[in-house]
Amino acid sequence: MAIMSTPTTFRPVLERIAEEIERTPGSGRAADYIPALAARDPRRFGMAVAELDGTVYGVGDWREPFSAQSITKVFTLALDLAREGDELWEHVGREPSGNPFNSLVQLEYENGIPRNPFINAGALVVTDRLHTRTGDAAGELLDFLRAESGNPDLAHDEDVAASEAAHGDRNAALAHFMASYGNIDNPVPVLLEQYFRQCSVTASCADLALATGFLARHGIRADGTRLLSRSRAKQINAVMLTCGTYDAAGDFAHRVGLPGKSGVGGGIIAVVPGHCTLCVWSPGLDERGNSVAGVAALDRFTTLTGLSVF
Ligand code: GLU
Repeated sequence: MAIMSTPTTFRPVLERIAEEIERTPGSGRAADYIPALAARDPRRFGMAVAELDGTVYGVGDWREPFSAQSITKVFTLALDLAREGDELWEHVGREPSGNPFNSLVQLEYENGIPRNPFINAGALVVTDRLHTRTGDAAGELLDFLRAESGNPDLAHDEDVAASEAAHGDRNAALAHFMASYGNIDNPVPVLLEQYFRQCSVTASCADLALATGFLARHGIRADGTRLLSRSRAKQINAVMLTCGTYDAAGDFAHRVGLPGKSGVGGGIIAVVPGHCTLCVWSPGLDERGNSVAGVAALDRFTTLTGLSVF
């Protein structure tokens, strides 16, 4: 039976989940295609819940900084949509791809327009457009995350960015290919530098749960100002639900029932619109790139609290 979902019950729910996760030894493997991420211990686990007013609870390694990676794609999408609005959707779609996050295959059939903003090709388009509008996409992202989390120490990890750049041939191929269709504005090396810096942001579960709050508050930032219309916040949540967890989004929706976005650093953010946001971190990934313990913990959270969009 579901536990009542009042804020005071979040803490015991998190503690129960952490105990359950501790009893099941870490599984999955840390991402090793970016060498700087490979050293993380798959048994690490942290989870945080942030309420709409910025109260945040956590268990385990919830204050430990980790590499946000593709989780940042949610924020660059929001920042770009806030500036350019629906024109963005002429350059990137919003359908699940059914292919791995770094796949090239669909791009040629679909004339250089990526399926959605959360596969790498789509995120490159979003970052390119945000960079054109701001002159510093990665800096804009960092300012936003610092403001929303209330943590001025958030930073890019230059070693992770350099490690990814040194092994970034596939992202370079995606960017050049889309440039050949006229779907990239900036020189590809400039775009790649921005994208790798963006992905290298290091933040904790507490930071990322707080920074995601605007999606639970229907577009309202932590300081009470509006970033996005209610309708655009809904659209981002919808794309997270359908495309946010690589080509396992159907399974994630089935198990967790919330909009979510994962990254190969082992983090996952999730949104309960109108209620709260979550971030969970554990570096062991399954074969599709989602944190094994992270998905299990979110699955337990929605089961125990009864909170879900369904
Ligand atoms: N920086 C990573 C890449 O482009 C992000 C991948 C991810 O977290 O999904 O491969």
